[in-house]
Amino acid sequence: MSEIIDGKLVSAKIRSEIKQKTEVLRKEKSVRLRLATILVGENPASKIYIKNKINSCIEVGIESEHIDLPGATTENELLLIIDRLNNDPDTDGILVQLPLPLHISPDKVIEKISPSKDVDGFHPYNQGILLTSKDYESLIASKIPVPCTPFGCMKLLEYYNIDPSGKRAVIIGRSNIVGKPLALLLLLRNATVTICHSKTKDAASVIKEGDIVVCATGKKGILAGDMIKDGAVVLDVGINRGEDGKIYGDADFESTSRKASFITPVPGGVGPMTITMLLYNTLMLGLKRRSLGNV
Ligand code: NDP
Repeated sequence: MSEIIDGKLVSAKIRSEIKQKTEVLRKEKSVRLRLATILVGENPASKIYIKNKINSCIEVGIESEHIDLPGATTENELLLIIDRLNNDPDTDGILVQLPLPLHISPDKVIEKISPSKDVDGFHPYNQGILLTSKDYESLIASKIPVPCTPFGCMKLLEYYNIDPSGKRAVIIGRSNIVGKPLALLLLLRNATVTICHSKTKDAASVIKEGDIVVCATGKKGILAGDMIKDGAVVLDVGINRGEDGKIYGDADFESTSRKASFITPVPGGVGPMTITMLLYNTLMLGLKRRSLGNV
């Protein structure tokens, strides 16, 4: 039976550290960090994500400015708002909730956000730094924003003393927000990384080699216990709604947890870490942009 990687616990610990730091900033430097969030349109899931992000900011003492825009907002109007926030000295981070309506290019929007306020770590400049970094510690020390979900996965491994060095890591999924950046981070931690995707031939034999297996596909039940090696560490990033209305990961938890040494549950594993790392990135970018060093 595997040990459960408790994302709520790790998340609460990191949030309490962030809260302490925002208090120091407020009391000793009269600085209030601020995250600007933008939502375009009426996507119900996006509304819930934004609400959670705003509430999480409040919980750790980060101010939030929320901008709700109608679905008919033009790309140019959105770019002008980002421009205003880029130039606002009181705004430390800018987050545009994805997905955007089809008439707005997410690439143009992401590129418009100043890399110094890119709390999601999606800007090509920040992704380029991640790609060309030579070691994990200096990447983190340089306060470059790392995409929140993969960053959260790395923090979970760290908290449970799972050292990826020398291990075979298999990531199922190659998106720009999860699979690809996580592969780079695990590589910086000296894992030997393979990415599987929908065109991978004989993914089963690749997955079976993984000491660390990450599933990030959005396909419920894509991973089962008989597909992993004994004692593998399983990080389940997937969020899927079952026919019963409940939330499930990509892995079949029952069979996988019988064989894995560590596993993240869904919900309560990787999920809570994503917003926590968003708060962490806001703090780091705020400190860096305001030349405040470490607090
Ligand atoms: P995308 O849809 O962008 O990417 C899914 C990836 O899975 C693609 O690379 C796709 O391959 C691959 N894939 C799909 N089917 C298969 C298959 N049968 N075999 C192998 N690979 C497959 O999703 P995201 O990366 O944005 O998200 C992945 C999941 O993680 C979703 O469930 C999402 O909700 C969840 N998520 C959870 C977060 C959290 O906080 N816990 C945050 C972000 C996402 P190909 O490229 O070939 O199409």
